[in-house]
Order: sequence, then structure tokens, then C-alpha cells
Amino acid sequence: MKKLALHWQIIIGLVLGLLYGLLAANSGWQEFTADWIAPWGTIFINMLKMIAVPLVLISLVNGISGLKDIAQLSSMGGKTIGFYLITTVIAVTIGLLVVNVIKPGKSFSEEVRTEMVAQNEAKVKSTEEQAQAQKESGPLQFLVDMVPANIFYASGNNRNMLQVIFFALLFGIALIIAPDASKTQAVKDFFDGANEVILKMVDIIMYFAPIGVFALLGNIMVELAGEDPAAALEILKGLAIYSITVLIGLALMVFLIYPMILKFLAGFSYREFFKGIAPAQLLAFSTSSSAATLPLTMERCEEKLGVSNKVASFVLPLGATINMDGTSCYQAVAAVFIAQVYGMDLDLADQLTIVLTATLASIGSAAVPGAGIIMLAIVLGSVGVPLEGISLIFAVDRPLDMCRTVVNVTGDATVATTVAYTENELIPHPVEK
Ligand code: ASP
Repeated sequence: MKKLALHWQIIIGLVLGLLYGLLAANSGWQEFTADWIAPWGTIFINMLKMIAVPLVLISLVNGISGLKDIAQLSSMGGKTIGFYLITTVIAVTIGLLVVNVIKPGKSFSEEVRTEMVAQNEAKVKSTEEQAQAQKESGPLQFLVDMVPANIFYASGNNRNMLQVIFFALLFGIALIIAPDASKTQAVKDFFDGANEVILKMVDIIMYFAPIGVFALLGNIMVELAGEDPAAALEILKGLAIYSITVLIGLALMVFLIYPMILKFLAGFSYREFFKGIAPAQLLAFSTSSSAATLPLTMERCEEKLGVSNKVASFVLPLGATINMDGTSCYQAVAAVFIAQVYGMDLDLADQLTIVLTATLASIGSAAVPGAGIIMLAIVLGSVGVPLEGISLIFAVDRPLDMCRTVVNVTGDATVATTVAYTENELIPHPVEK
């Protein structure tokens, strides 16, 4: 029997998870779900995170050791950063366009605003504290964070992924320029072999994807609905126009901007791209974390889109950490929405400030669920919009987080494909039918 394609497996897990979640929320199975369903989701995410660090390390060293020379690395690096910046600025601009046209904040009632602000005081405070901690670090702190004092401690979270990249780059460069090639050949062969093994591990973990996705979705639904599903639905309805505005912005990125980039800059058909990358998009939706999705994004880009290991192993881990188009588009919409609710008019200078801070904030956001809303606090501060305004959007943050993470991952894959094309590193590869 032909094996069901991975994206179908994930879709089935996703739909069943949603249905289970609805049933559980309405039948009062909160405790059962927390005890017996949620752990499978956590195990799945942990497996993905577990593989992410060794994968990046091995794959990047392997990729660099295959480079012609160091010059190729700097040309690839320059292009990657350039494309990431451009796509982020486009994303913020699209966010600003849709929110200024639709004006979702204008129809928001004053009473609902006051009520929501009062309800979420504690949450606002904790977000503010986290944002403050980010802001207080010195201007060179990001460079300091990039260099690990101990590579064995560098695991898991966002900053540490950059540390792993830093170590792997240094190791890979040393491997190319080490004088006695006869001695280093064994090291190169080791990383080449280990790369095969680690990609197989990703495959094995993916067998578990339908169950993991089912558990994640089921649990999210139950958490969203809380104790009173009817009340939760009411709040969601109140935020419908805002949510739709964010979704339109995100959809424009996925269905207009990326296809154009792929077509004009990489000569790549979007259908083929979509077929190859769909499982990673679905996983991004289920996990709300580009870091947890990274192993699958790398595997799909290499094996289905034909991006060479050299390019994928460098561009994608970097992108998962610093390139978040979905997050920056969302931040632009959210900031202007809140300003509209408070009756503030943001002029052109304010909107440009949003472009700048949202771009920087998306670079600084961790690739984990909910990171975007913390950086939003900084964006709001930059244009003088009251921070308590984020109370208005907490209720829909998780579902929107799921959607913006899809865009984050799609953006990374688009740039990887484009850089590969321009570097002559796009290997023609049949996409699974
Ligand atoms: N969850 C997003 C990601 O991991 C970040 C965010 O927007 O909160 O890509």
C-alpha cells in the first residue's frame, strides 16, 4: 500500500485534534486532556527541539566543509541577510497597508476596551517586564549573546541557536583552511555520514507527527476555550475584524509576495514549492514555533526543493532565529489597531518608526510561541501607544501566533530557495507527487 504523504498525515492529526478539542472543551474534559493528551504534544515538541541543535551543528559543519572557499560563505551570508531584511520590511509595510485600509480599531467599543484592560492587568505587567529586560540590554549585547562561553550549554532557545551557528561556522571554516588535508579528511567524512544519520532521525520523529499534532491541537483548543467556551467565543467574535486584518496581511505574504520572489528571483514554480514545504507549514501551525519546526524545514528544503545542504544548513537556522516576516507583519497591524482603539492617529513618521522597530523586534524575537507579543510591547513604546492596549489582543494571540509562524517558516524557505538559485546551489529534484 502506498504510504500516505506526510502533509496528509499531519492534516488528519490536525483535524482530529481540533474536533477532539471542541468536544473536550464542551464536555468538561479539561483535566483528562491535561493529564493524558497534552503530554504527547510536549514529547513531540521536545523531540523536535532535541534534534534541532545537533542537526544545525552537524549539517552546518558539513555544509561549510563542502564550500569552494571562504569567499562563497561571505557571498551567501551577504545575500541571506539582505533578503531577510527586504522580506521583513515588505511584511511590515503590508501589515501597515491593510490595517490603515481596514481600520479594525475604529469600530471597537469603549466599554469592551475598559473591561479587557481591567481583566488582563497581570498579563500586561509580566509582558512589560519581559520587554523591559530585552530593552535594557546594551547595544552590543546581541553580539555578546552570539558567542557561547560553553558550547555544551548552548541548547534550545533562540539566542543559543545563534551560538550553535557561531560555533559551527568557526569549526567549519577551520576545517576548510586547516593545512593538512590528509588529517582532516576523516573529520569531513564523519560529518558527512552524521548528516545522513541525523536526517534519518528527523524522518523517524516524523512518524510520530500525526499523534503529536493531534495532542497539540486538542490541548490548544481546550486551553483557548477555558472554563467557559461560550464566553471565549464571544471575545473571539469581538476581535474578528482585527484577526481578519492580520490574516489578510499574512495571506498576502504567502500567496503574493513569496510566489513573486520565487518566480522572478529563483524561477521556481510556487506549486512545486508548496508541495515540498507544506508539511513544514502545517507543523509550524501546530507548534507555533519556527525553532521546533526547523528540523523539518531543513529536511524538506534539502530533499524536496533541492536546496543544497550548504545553503540550507546556513540560511534556514539563521532564518528561524532572525527572520520573522509573519511576526513583523502582525506587529505592524497590532500596533496600529491598538492606536486606533485609543483614538490616536499615527502620522507617517510614526508609521516609519513602526517599520524600523518591528523589523528590529522580529530579529530579536525568539522562535517560540508567544514571543511576538513581547516584542510588540517595544514597538508600541516606540510610537507612544499605551502598553495596556495589548490586553485587547491577548485572547486571539495564540491562534494568530500559529498563523504567523507559518509565514515565518515559509519566508525562511523562500529565501533559502532564492539564495540557492543565485548561488547555483539549487539541485533539480522531483517533488513527491
Ligand atoms: N511563534 C513565532 C515563531 O516561533 C514567534 C512569534 O511571532 O511569537 O516563529
